[in-house]
Amino acid sequence: HTYQAADNRYEKMLYRRVGASGLLFPAISLGFWHNFGENDNPDNMRAMMRTAFDLGISQFDLANNYGPQYGRAEKNAGKFLAEDFKPYRDELVISSKAGYDMWPGPYGNWGSRKYLIASADQSLNRLGLDYVDIFYHHRPDPNTPLAETLDALKSIVDAGKAIYAGISNYNAEQTRAAVRYARKIHLPLIVNQSRYSIFDRKIERMDLPGQADEDGIGIIAFSPLAQGLLSDRYLDGIPSDSRIAHDGRYLKREDLTENKLSAARRLQEIARDRGQSLAQMALAWDLRLPQVSSVIIGASSPAQIKENVDALARLDFSPAELTEIDEIAAG
Ligand code: NDP
Repeated sequence: HTYQAADNRYEKMLYRRVGASGLLFPAISLGFWHNFGENDNPDNMRAMMRTAFDLGISQFDLANNYGPQYGRAEKNAGKFLAEDFKPYRDELVISSKAGYDMWPGPYGNWGSRKYLIASADQSLNRLGLDYVDIFYHHRPDPNTPLAETLDALKSIVDAGKAIYAGISNYNAEQTRAAVRYARKIHLPLIVNQSRYSIFDRKIERMDLPGQADEDGIGIIAFSPLAQGLLSDRYLDGIPSDSRIAHDGRYLKREDLTENKLSAARRLQEIARDRGQSLAQMALAWDLRLPQVSSVIIGASSPAQIKENVDALARLDFSPAELTEIDEIAAG
């Protein structure tokens, strides 16, 4: 059962600089939002973590409430980190977050100092770690002063419980304000985690990439496959082991509209001409922006992780391909 990481684990992966920081992210990171909960198969979790690391995926992305139940993904990850990855701790970037609903009462949500500091300690306990590499504020809190939230991240970093800090789901204006304040207090705030895919252009509309350049903050993209809609998963119906069929909390049958399906079919043809699967093209498309230091994929099997890492074989796009992808996505 002992795990020995592949000797060639750094041969295929690309590593990209996070904003103007000293840190590099693997172009593809593994997220633990789904498939690491109480109903999921532990052998598969272990296999996915091993496969990912063997392919150079040096970043595991977690949050306090990934489950179900809340905390379960961190607990499961912690078990395999302890059993398999102890010798590799310094080769891994492990991230966690707080900002959404976590425990009952007024102190288990949003962005207060009270919540963030307690939650960071809980996460370290569940993960069985002394520190995480990045601790994120998971979403902006309209009712807590930004300074309080960032001061709390600074305390967490100063206590040695996180190496870097991040923000997530902050819009361009909120990001700029956060970067300015972070600089003032010497908080190493290096990355903004945002949803970005062929189907979700919100960060382009607010020019987060342009602003990221100006501010020296990196972007890491989540749900680059639109939770599976940008893959061949649903092109012939809804498989029983798919996210829609077996989970359905965040990706529902109603999200699989005729429009999305026909767009996915047309995108798949472009991908085929490029010698890629639709999932591979969707990841390459996110990575065409230099500001996107990494895409965080979810996966339900080691095979998906392998397929997705092979996206790196073809990252370039012709202007004609980009135009066509834009047209299809616009509907
Ligand atoms: P994706 O868009 O990558 O969707 C992942 C799902 O797509 C998989 O579970 C799988 O679904 C399917 N899939 C993946 N690869 C393939 C493939 N090669 N072929 C066919 N289907 C494939 O990302 P997620 O939505 O899962 O988000 C990724 C991560 O981003 C999360 O785990 C989390 O770490 C982070 N995140 C952060 C958020 C934030 O607010 N900061 C919010 C959401 C996510 P199936 O199960 O059907 O096989």
